[in-house]
Amino acid sequence: MILDGKTPTGPIEKTWDKHCFDMKLVNPSNKRKFKVLVVGTGLAGGAAAASLGELGYNVEAFCYQDSARRAHSIAAQGGINAAKNYPNDGDSIYRLFYDTIKGGDFRAREADVWRLAQVSNNIIDQCVAQGVPFARDYAGYLDNRSFGGAQVSRTFYARGQTGQQLLLGAYSALSRAVKNKQVKLHPRTEMLDLVVVDGVAKGITVRNLITGQIESHWGDAVILATGGFVNVFYLSTNAMGCSVTAAWKATKKGAFMANPCYTQIHPTCIPQHGDKQSKLTLMSESLRNDGRCWVPKNAKDCDKPANEIPEADRDYYLERKYPSFGNLAPRDIASRAAKEQCDDNRGVGPGKRGVYLDYATAIGRVGESTIKERYGNLFEMYEKITDENAYKQPMRIYPAPHYAMGGLWVDYNCMSNVPGLFVLGEANFSVHGANRLGASALMQGLADGYFVIPNTIANYLAQITPGTVTDEHPEFKKSAEEVQGQIDKLLSIKGKKTVSELHRELGSVMWENVGMARSDASLKEALKRIPEIRDEFWNNVNVTGEPGEINQQLENAGRLADFLEFAEMMTTDALHREESCGGHFRTEHQTEDGEAMRDDENFTYVGAWEYKGLDKAPELHKEPLKFENVHLAVRSYK
Ligand SMILES: Cc1cc2nc3c(=O)[nH]c(=O)nc-3n(C[C@H](O)[C@H](O)[C@H](O)COP(=O)(O)OP(=O)(O)OC[C@H]3O[C@@H](n4cnc5c(N)ncnc54)[C@H](O)[C@@H]3O)c2cc1C
Repeated sequence: MILDGKTPTGPIEKTWDKHCFDMKLVNPSNKRKFKVLVVGTGLAGGAAAASLGELGYNVEAFCYQDSARRAHSIAAQGGINAAKNYPNDGDSIYRLFYDTIKGGDFRAREADVWRLAQVSNNIIDQCVAQGVPFARDYAGYLDNRSFGGAQVSRTFYARGQTGQQLLLGAYSALSRAVKNKQVKLHPRTEMLDLVVVDGVAKGITVRNLITGQIESHWGDAVILATGGFVNVFYLSTNAMGCSVTAAWKATKKGAFMANPCYTQIHPTCIPQHGDKQSKLTLMSESLRNDGRCWVPKNAKDCDKPANEIPEADRDYYLERKYPSFGNLAPRDIASRAAKEQCDDNRGVGPGKRGVYLDYATAIGRVGESTIKERYGNLFEMYEKITDENAYKQPMRIYPAPHYAMGGLWVDYNCMSNVPGLFVLGEANFSVHGANRLGASALMQGLADGYFVIPNTIANYLAQITPGTVTDEHPEFKKSAEEVQGQIDKLLSIKGKKTVSELHRELGSVMWENVGMARSDASLKEALKRIPEIRDEFWNNVNVTGEPGEINQQLENAGRLADFLEFAEMMTTDALHREESCGGHFRTEHQTEDGEAMRDDENFTYVGAWEYKGLDKAPELHKEPLKFENVHLAVRSYK
């Protein structure tokens, strides 16, 4: 099937405004008749629920955390992009659009990216109005810093806690809507199935994580804003609860999964320090504003303390390889460059899987107190984890799984191929192509939640009758029985391995074979190993505790069961995409100097996969990508 992204036609700078005008509206007094379910209360879901509640829809919002404001967005450190051009350094909507398309290695839809760049400026105004304490310069204007893949400074930030401050802004809007009875919150509630009636999304099945009760909720539309799936690698920078469950359940009910092989490995993380570790820590990309990446030129120096290696014996490899962007090369490129140095036996630290990120030059230039002002909390965090003072010796960093560019397929209206199912934020595939630029995820989540969905959902709801299907429909009972059936099965296995042991095994297969570098052989190896681990899971996992109580073993087992199915689709996507682009690096497709080699003739499309059953190959549907406003070019940061 050739998929239609329903992109409006006409001059790109007018597409969104024209589309907003062309879409149908819901009369204010009719809005309260529609019930909208929002799963996820991070920046995308929180912003959506607050905005739709404020508009007058009857909204119910769900999350598995104990409070909506603890969604994983809270972890975001570095900042949020917008094309305000406050520093007067040449930024514009067009430049943000262009950087994002190029940064994504020309694998995203032009119109969606244009809209993102256009509304980026509204986001900053909205957040400032909510009281988000963005950093300001000496004169009191909002300050900006630089992030990877851009030569302008367009990143707004609140020290190293931008996500937390933005989420508090969204949460305050949400709390107002809750108080006004426009939104009902369901914390500690996990969505375990999507209910589809006659091909249309009509509700969800959830488990109350406190009582274990299985409940049905109906809605006229369902919005998934359930975040990303890189915990398929087990070790990642994501919170441990982040899962593919909601998206995967939707996939199994007919929603297409787009570009699942596009995963982002972030270059700036604290290296893994042992086998028992269950989480990796990100050191924000903002640190590459002032930090310089290097490794010893000679392998024999790798065991020496960094400060004893003279300047002449250091290889500032990013500055050498990419002189125009230097340490601010985009993430996929910086990650691969770090791996290349370590593969060349010039890595540092335990296991030699690390490179230095050094502040000595910046401290010499602006002083330690300025560096402390800019990144103080990140340096503190680094010291707490490594017991090393990064003001005195360079940090050690190594790439780690961080973000999912792939996700559920959506059209320009953020609606999936299942009518009534909308997908926002990291959970959809929409704007980042094959590689996301730093500080663009927060921008996308808030764009989707505050500015896109309030318009596009109206167009859908205006064309249906509210409340035609409720939880009395037999599909709800069927779904609840299936969910209960899986829980009973998991608890009855009583095998010998823990959920985390098996998750670690899956993670290691994915990291080794479907990680920073992938090949035909490694992907086939993963496709052999994943079903073996899945079989072992269903025969030998030990899930302790009872179903009718708080049971994190059971929660984790359910999430791993979904990762074990999803991993196969992700690997299949990576195997079919015979090119290298962005975060998807196929070793067979590289230039002589190790850069990614795209195949525009054969792969300029979104690959959207339809689930066909566990023992059947998924079916590929293509959405061709057209580039009318940017020239398809070899991506170069040299
Ligand atoms: C350490 C770190 C730092 C980052 N820093 C930046 C940065 O500086 N700038 C930037 O732009 N991006 C950054 N990112 C990326 C960015 O934070 C995320 O992509 C973004 O916050 C995702 O927002 P979201 O609303 O889509 O999902 P999330 O914030 O992940 O929210 C998901 C929501 O869905 C709910 N949920 C999920 N599954 C279910 C289910 N089955 N049932 C019920 N509820 C469910 C969760 O409870 C949660 O409420 C960072 C990411 C990490 C890990």
